Amino acid sequence: MAVVIFIETQNGKASKTGLELLSYGRSIAEATSASLIAVIFSDSDTQELTDHGADVIYTVDTATDSNFNLERYSATLSEICALEKATIVVVSSSSEGRYLGPSLAVKTGATYLSNAVALPTTYNPLTVKQSCFTNKGFAISESMSSCTVLSLSSNAFGIHPQPGRGEVKTYPYASTKSKLEVTKVEHAQESISIADADIVVSGGRGLKGPEHWHLIEDLASTLGAATACSKPVSDLGWRPHSEHVGQTGKPVASNLYIAIGISGAIQHLAGINASKVKVVINNDPEAPFFKAADYGIVGDAFEVVPRLIEKLKALKKA
Ligand SMILES: Cc1cc2nc3c(=O)[nH]c(=O)nc-3n(C[C@H](O)[C@H](O)[C@H](O)COP(=O)(O)OP(=O)(O)OC[C@H]3O[C@@H](n4cnc5c(N)ncnc54)[C@H](O)[C@@H]3O)c2cc1C
Repeated sequence: MAVVIFIETQNGKASKTGLELLSYGRSIAEATSASLIAVIFSDSDTQELTDHGADVIYTVDTATDSNFNLERYSATLSEICALEKATIVVVSSSSEGRYLGPSLAVKTGATYLSNAVALPTTYNPLTVKQSCFTNKGFAISESMSSCTVLSLSSNAFGIHPQPGRGEVKTYPYASTKSKLEVTKVEHAQESISIADADIVVSGGRGLKGPEHWHLIEDLASTLGAATACSKPVSDLGWRPHSEHVGQTGKPVASNLYIAIGISGAIQHLAGINASKVKVVINNDPEAPFFKAADYGIVGDAFEVVPRLIEKLKALKKA
C-alpha cells in the first residue's frame, strides 16, 4: 500500500505547496500503515522531501522537456502508481494539479476528488470533505474505488515537517508521444508567488493608475507579501495578468488578504474565499467587499495606506 504525492517544483526545487502535500500524505500514510512516495520531476536536492516525510523519493529527469507536459507527467506517474500499488494519490489544486488529477484518475482507474480541505475521516471507503461552489459550501464524498486521486486545497493542511525514510530512486521519464506541444512558457516575474504567499496585498481600480502602485508594493514589501490585483487592473495593463485574482484569475488561499480599492464583485471574491483573514480598504462604506471582509477601513487609500506602512515600519523597528 502506498500514498503517492506529486511534488510541484519552483525553480527546480519543491514548492511550499509540494511540502504541504507531503505533510498531508504523511498523516494519511500513518493512519493507513502505508509508505509515503514522493515523485519529483527534477534532480533537485531530495533532503527536504525526506525531512517532510517521504519514505521513497522518485526523481524523474525530464532533461529534454523543461516544461510541464501533461501527457508525459501523467504517464510517468501512473506507471509509478502501478509499481507502488498506490491506494491514494495526492496532487495540488494549482493549474498543474487540476490538469494532472483527472488525467491520472483515468489512467489508473481511480476516483478523482478535488479540493479536499481535511484529512479523510474514513479509509474504507475513503471519505473526505471537499470545498465546492468557490469555497462557499462543502461536500462530504465517498470514493468506492480501490485507488483515489485527491487534490488538496492550498493552505488547507499546512506544513508539518516529520522525517521519512528518504530512500532515493530514479525513474525514467515516459516517452509517450505527446499530442500537445508547449512551445513557450512565460514565467511570472513575481518575487513571492501568489499561490505560496502567506500574505497577499491586492489593488483594484480604486488606485486610479499604475503610477500609484508603489503604495501596494511598499505595503507588500513591508509585510513580506505577494502583490495581486483585480481583473480590470490587469485588463488595463496596469499590472501583469499573472497577478489577476478571482474566478477567471488565480485563486488565493493566503492567511491574510488585503484588498485596497477593490469593490468586492462576486467574481473577485470567488478567487479569495479560501483566504483566512480578509481586510478591505475602500472609501465607499457600501462597497460589497465589507460584507465579505473580517476587518475593514473606510477611507481614502491614498491616505490610509501610507499611514499603515509608516505604522508597520515603526512596529518592526520597535
Ligand atoms: C465573467 C466575468 C468574470 C470576471 N472575473 C473576474 C476576476 O476573476 N477577478 C476580478 O477581480 N474581476 C472579475 N470580473 C470583473 C468583476 O465583475 C468586477 O468588475 C471587478 O472585480 C471590479 O474591479 P475593481 O473592484 O478593481 O474595480 P471597481 O469596480 O471600479 O471598484 C473600485 C473600488 O475602489 C473604490 N475606490 C475608489 N477610489 C478609492 C480610493 N481613493 N480609496 C479607496 N477605495 C477607492 C471604489 O469605492 C470601488 O469600490 C469578472 C467579470 C465577469 C463578467
